Amino acid sequence: MTRDLPEAPPGPGGPALPQHRRLVTAIPGPRSTELLARRTAAVPPGVSTVLPVFIERAGGGILLDVDGNSLIDFGSGIAVTSVGNSAPRVVARVTDQVARFTHTCAMVTPYESYIAVCEALNRLTPGEHEKRSMLVSSGAEAVENAVKIARSYTGRPAVVAFEHGYHGRTLLTMTLTAKNLPYKHRFGPYAPEVYRMPMAYPFRWPTGPDRCAEEALATTIEAIEVQLGADQVAAIVIEPIQGEGGFIVPAPGFLPGLADYCAAHGIVLIADEIQTGFARTGQMFASEHEGIVPDLVTTAKGIAGGLPLAGVTGRAEIMDSVHVGGLGGTYGGNPLACEAALGAIETIEADDLCGRARHIEEVMLPRLRALAARHGVVGEVRGRGAMLAVELVAGPGDKTPNPTATAEVARRCHAAGLLVLTCGTYRNVLRFLPPLVIDDALLLDGLDVLDRAFEAL
Ligand SMILES: *Cc1c(COP(=O)(O)O)cnc(C)c1O
Repeated sequence: MTRDLPEAPPGPGGPALPQHRRLVTAIPGPRSTELLARRTAAVPPGVSTVLPVFIERAGGGILLDVDGNSLIDFGSGIAVTSVGNSAPRVVARVTDQVARFTHTCAMVTPYESYIAVCEALNRLTPGEHEKRSMLVSSGAEAVENAVKIARSYTGRPAVVAFEHGYHGRTLLTMTLTAKNLPYKHRFGPYAPEVYRMPMAYPFRWPTGPDRCAEEALATTIEAIEVQLGADQVAAIVIEPIQGEGGFIVPAPGFLPGLADYCAAHGIVLIADEIQTGFARTGQMFASEHEGIVPDLVTTAKGIAGGLPLAGVTGRAEIMDSVHVGGLGGTYGGNPLACEAALGAIETIEADDLCGRARHIEEVMLPRLRALAARHGVVGEVRGRGAMLAVELVAGPGDKTPNPTATAEVARRCHAAGLLVLTCGTYRNVLRFLPPLVIDDALLLDGLDVLDRAFEAL
């Protein structure tokens, strides 16, 4: 950008928020409890909440609630605030932008920041080929658009997705999502031409992790050829590490096998990097861990420090195949969100947040493995970078999912001032997504809280 930017403020949204866990009331406290009553009267229960502490300020690794409690954030608003809440570069750019103009609609009269974000996406996503990007407002919208583009380019109807996959809550993306409760239950009929294949989930593969990639790939390819016909498949959509489904890292070789198959059959490979993208896994994008180059990449969550923005990036010939006016949306690439993305991307690159994510893995993994050694209910520790999880089971040698213990550990963490999230098809995975800017002392304090929550089981 050519324009001069104002000085970044001294800390997130003013004086830096002290980076210590500190509880001054029960969780939730009295003011949060009052607000929760108002929420219950005004908001339907379908929009649920993990932990009803109402937030006043946030920054670094801390969430400060309306009762004055400082909680450690191991969730980042579901992998969104990777650069931290109110990250200085994001605040500076958005503040400047909000005073200049807030919206023109990028499809009506454009502005530079939209182009700059697309250039950054084209530069940062895997592959050296010529690329184009388009911007929308949510992850689901990005996945919907990626499927529209793949169908338009190939002239084919079918879309292949995977067990345990999560791609959003709109009609098409809910259909692509694997799990019935809570995402699909009573919301049918679903979109047509979506087909689900087995996921190479090493921990639960019937014949064991070593044969997982090969067998999952063979089953997928056979199902495509026998049931669908490869020439009817527009796209294969996959998360390079599954998020909501349980932080499932596919068995090594599965993703490259899918990529080769797609290339051989003119199928568009869509990597849904919405949760894994923007340094979260220790690389800018998780596809890089296995060296795959997707045809299209969907991004959202970590892209803009919390402002609503999402993107589809892909091969120029695929992206350019859609007719003029076929893509867009009123708010897509909103100028505040674009400035936020430029601030977030600048932060990721200048502060080496990929390196920070790898550092977080180095700090957390040994601690989580030690936890697994002490507690038989921890069946597996997995993930990459600052996207780590433990899967809870009945006990040693019994992989029956243990959602009860999972909920109990999460509840104890919350009560002690550590925000953790759960996930997994069987609700038995504790996932850890700290902001990449969290300091080591907070990270270690959070891990101590987690240890005590397990000990209390
Ligand atoms: C969160 C998520 C989505 C949906 O994004 P929204 O912004 O909630 O619509 C899609 N895919 C993946 C992998 C996600 O984690």
